Amino acid sequence: MQSNVFKGKTVLISGAGSGIGRAVAARLSELGARLHLSDLNISALRQAASGWPNPAASLTELDVRDSEALGAWIRESPGRGNRLDYLFNNAGIGMAGEFRHMHAEDWVAVRSINLDAVVVASQEAFKYMENHGGGHIVNTASLLGISPSPLASLYSACKHGVMGLSHNLSIEGKTLGILCSAVCPGYIDTAIFDRAEIRNTNKEAMLSHLPWKLYPVEEAARCILEGVASSRKVIVFPAHARLSHRLWTFLPGLYARINERLLERHRKAASNR
Ligand code: NAD
Repeated sequence: MQSNVFKGKTVLISGAGSGIGRAVAARLSELGARLHLSDLNISALRQAASGWPNPAASLTELDVRDSEALGAWIRESPGRGNRLDYLFNNAGIGMAGEFRHMHAEDWVAVRSINLDAVVVASQEAFKYMENHGGGHIVNTASLLGISPSPLASLYSACKHGVMGLSHNLSIEGKTLGILCSAVCPGYIDTAIFDRAEIRNTNKEAMLSHLPWKLYPVEEAARCILEGVASSRKVIVFPAHARLSHRLWTFLPGLYARINERLLERHRKAASNR
């Protein structure tokens, strides 16, 4: 990062107790940001934050599905009259399986965290930022928000929604001093795969058939913060994600065939359970 744009800035991150959120928070702590962090799992959050060079300004137990609590966290964390410089809507869960095996409750479960909460939080932050000198909303979408993947229909639908929201916020926020970035990571080495709800497939085989090697989470945090510091609207990383997205954009037939092959492999693995 050429200059440290985060020093002294007020930054809120949801889902900061693990994975990408934790790695971004750790790096921002080194960079001297004023951090307000939340997670459903407060003990994981406390444990993570205990090792950082600068203590976080606040650690909050928060379920992002609780819209009132989410709104209050965003409005109240910066402190009366202060700017909210950055909000990272990062909390999320994995959900995998073929569409035909998914239940109505699966859609509610994944949508309430991966899309509904992002809409609620973005609206709250947008209003706050409009009244307090602007700010920057950073929404975590996914490579699966810009391209398809087998076994990811519900997850992918949410992340495409996050992309749509973020593109529109960028336009509406421009003259109000509000920026919006959508983060599209490829496959990152976090606990999300182990924790994911999986329907009718063999989890171990599914994980062993991931199309790309998992990318280190600290490197992911670096890519995200570089993209945010340069006000990029869409941050796609690492190289495998950029390649996948290009293939889907310019050679959609080939990309679909690769995904059909992957699906065949998953079906075979599931039938050998
Ligand atoms: P992770 O499981 O390591 O971390 C997710 C965090 O979100 C956890 O600390 C968890 O406690 C928290 N969380 C889950 N449900 C919550 C809720 N209802 N309220 C508040 N907090 C909650 O996963 P990760 O890989 O670090 O995922 C972070 C974000 O990155 C997610 O939005 C995910 O969809 C996205 N993402 C991850 C990958 C990847 O390969 N790891 C790829 C693309 C996008």
